[in-house]
Amino acid sequence: MRFDIITVLPGLLESPFAHSILLRAQKKGIAEIFVHNLRDYATNKQKSVDDYPYGGGSGMVMSIEPFAKCIETLKSAHQYDDIIFMSPDGETFNQAIANEFSVKKNLMILCGHYKGIDQRIRDLFVTREISIGDYVLSGGELPAAVMVDAIIRLIPGVLNDETSALSDSFQGELLDAPVYTRPADWKGHKVPDILLSGHEAKINEWRYEQALARTLKRRPDLLED
Ligand code: SAH
Repeated sequence: MRFDIITVLPGLLESPFAHSILLRAQKKGIAEIFVHNLRDYATNKQKSVDDYPYGGGSGMVMSIEPFAKCIETLKSAHQYDDIIFMSPDGETFNQAIANEFSVKKNLMILCGHYKGIDQRIRDLFVTREISIGDYVLSGGELPAAVMVDAIIRLIPGVLNDETSALSDSFQGELLDAPVYTRPADWKGHKVPDILLSGHEAKINEWRYEQALARTLKRRPDLLED
């Protein structure tokens, strides 16, 4: 799966994809992430990518020209399943959307900055608008990294058995069960006996009960359907 991310701050997207599961996915050739510097597509002498808002008001607005040029260049080489704009007023990202995107081939992701991007970019090019939650960040880079991480770990072959996504919270209707590792007794705080029993069926039953109890307590809304 291929991701093309357009940003004015490519440096912000270096580290999130350079470690652990996301790095492994790229090394295995399962995911390819290309970060494009919007400034390379600026057409004026100053290489500026933003301008004052029409009608006045605070904050700079990202201009249509560089985005259009970058998007059109990418579109001439690849077919995109979606062109996604990260935006606080978009649909709220969740595990269902991550699953939906994880079976796509090519996604383009636009990161906004400052006050936002010229509305015409959204009207003319964007096919999907995604928010990572009801709060406002300085730019779309961290939201894009969050979304790409959630998508990549769902692509078959990325996680191994030890890190299987199937029992994760939100993958089904239950939150995940509590987990423990050695030591079995830390200053008198013991790991539940059942987990040391070696009885797989009973352990699975215990995990299911714990997950159910946790979901009822913390997120009963997940069980409503
Ligand atoms: N004026 C805008 C916010 C601009 S924040 C508004 O009130 O809706 C600058 C950029 O950061 C946005 O264009 C978007 O790309 C990104 N961003 C900020 N918060 C975000 C969020 N919760 N989810 C996704 N992207 C976000």
